[in-house]
Amino acid sequence: MIQFSNVSKRYSNGFEALKDVSLHIAKAEMAFLTGHSGAGKSTLLKMIPLIERPSAGSVTIDERPLAQVKRRKIPALRRDIGVIFQDSKLLNDRTVFDNVALPLLVSGLHHPREAGRRVRAALDKVGLLQRENDFPVYLSGGERQRVGIARAVVNRPKVLIADEPTGNLDPALSREIMLLFEQFNQVGVTVLIASHDLELIGAMDKRIMVLSKGRLLADQGGLGGT
Ligand code: ADP
Repeated sequence: MIQFSNVSKRYSNGFEALKDVSLHIAKAEMAFLTGHSGAGKSTLLKMIPLIERPSAGSVTIDERPLAQVKRRKIPALRRDIGVIFQDSKLLNDRTVFDNVALPLLVSGLHHPREAGRRVRAALDKVGLLQRENDFPVYLSGGERQRVGIARAVVNRPKVLIADEPTGNLDPALSREIMLLFEQFNQVGVTVLIASHDLELIGAMDKRIMVLSKGRLLADQGGLGGT
């Protein structure tokens, strides 16, 4: 479903963050990307929703080369890809409900009843339906991250990518968040998670790809291979 073919990325300052990376992630696969800080994990993830583009090589989703996606089609591409960051990046002056509703507004769904249904379905999946009227400051770190996940899935994306989603959480909460990603994966969502926490991701028994200084060093377990 997601194919990287000989992808390299040189930033404008000349730094080469990815070097000749090829990998394939199958539809409905759940896979992890690991490696030290600076290994290129974020850079790789950012290419999937076209936040960054390769300097060489190509990325395709569903056999569609991203290089051919026209600028005006990028919002539609991004609707199919839910993105989760380390810091959930919630808006503190909006309620949980409004935070989760935001991507729907951005993608043009203004119908209040349908939007409400979708937001509540997303909050229900992350177990936070009863917190919809709360403001983010009243939530724990784990709850905030779950709101971030609800926001990422509210458009029912086919792909979820997460960049160090448990970076600020203790081990028990981190495990909960990973199990939540697994639940989305079990209903067919393709999930790719960057994490440097080997203990946590090792316990998940999924494919692990290791990046080191921009190169794919190892790729173990799972369905895809290169
Ligand atoms: P990771 O997510 O594994 O920590 P990153 O993809 O964030 O790695 O970064 C890989 C390397 O690329 C780092 O050395 C980082 O400093 C560099 N880098 C990231 N973004 C930029 C940028 N916009 N311009 C220049 N260098 C960057």
